[in-house]
Amino acid sequence: MYYNSIIEAIGDTPLVKLNSVSKGIKGTILAKVEYFNPGNSMKDRMALKMIEDAEKDGSLKPGGTIIEGTSGNTGMGLALVAIAKGYKCIFTLSDKQSQEKIDILRAVGAEVIVCPTNVEPEDPRSYYSVAKKLHKDIPNSIYPNQYDNPSNAAAHYETTGPEIWQQTEGKITHYAAGVGTGGSMCGTAKYLKEQNPDVVSVGIDSYGSVFKKYKETGIFDKNEIYPYMTEGIGEDILPKNVDFSLIDHFVKVTDKDAAIMTRRLAREEGLFVGWSCGSAVYGALEYAKENLQEGDTMVIILPDHGTRYLAKVYNDSWMKNHGFDETREYATAKDIIT
Ligand code: PMP
Repeated sequence: MYYNSIIEAIGDTPLVKLNSVSKGIKGTILAKVEYFNPGNSMKDRMALKMIEDAEKDGSLKPGGTIIEGTSGNTGMGLALVAIAKGYKCIFTLSDKQSQEKIDILRAVGAEVIVCPTNVEPEDPRSYYSVAKKLHKDIPNSIYPNQYDNPSNAAAHYETTGPEIWQQTEGKITHYAAGVGTGGSMCGTAKYLKEQNPDVVSVGIDSYGSVFKKYKETGIFDKNEIYPYMTEGIGEDILPKNVDFSLIDHFVKVTDKDAAIMTRRLAREEGLFVGWSCGSAVYGALEYAKENLQEGDTMVIILPDHGTRYLAKVYNDSWMKNHGFDETREYATAKDIIT
């Protein structure tokens, strides 16, 4: 038994019960561990679907170039699919992303263009604008635009949702996920709510992002927008893949609470996951504390792997420098000998 290429290894990720960080909460808390995908994130699913849909509608032709604005994980997924299918990749990303993510993308043959973070999305220097311009200038190129491309949410509707439904034998009562493009939250929630309209969805947002306020008031409040560090969740735009009617509640999480929870997941659960996984679990558990009953089952999506954050949340000095005081003291050989 073998796969014909790496892309056949996408999907069918395990669901793992959280036993430690969830102590004291009623109900069962399960994590969908998406780093088991070959690109180490859930984004492999939608990368495959965006490319296959572009092939089907004729916009992507043999030898074509895929151009995307990506925080790294989508780029990795697109790069793997492009290798298997013979396409070129150019990615634009913002300068707040981990150096590891940039190095990884270059390692799998993609061209990476780093753009400034703290400019308006419409600014010609933003990573959205640079991607659009490259697409205009390069013949036989596609710009999948994960924010507005319906294939993004459709990938999760077709794979993540059915997997969770089967893995929980239809017992899921609550579904929680971070919201960036909205694809994983909304595609999965749509499928789950079609199976059982009582499934409650909880979107995790970041401080510095517009989603929660927009859901609660209908106002796109620019005062909600300010720089934050957590990568992958929260936005300063309203992507088409965020369908607010499919997200029942939003919880906002700070960079610090997310960082500390990320480290706890590694240490207490053996789940060496990315920073937004800490956001998702922290936010989901805040909601669960107040709202879950005995017998309920909550599934939380953990989008990616910890390697990409070694220089950040998994680095003790970095934690200390940012005032995220959870750093533990490690014994040295000298302490042990004396
Ligand atoms: N976490 C990480 C690390 C991500 O890369 C993304 C994708 N932006 C998300 C969470 C949010 O997922 P989505 O785009 O499906 O809303």
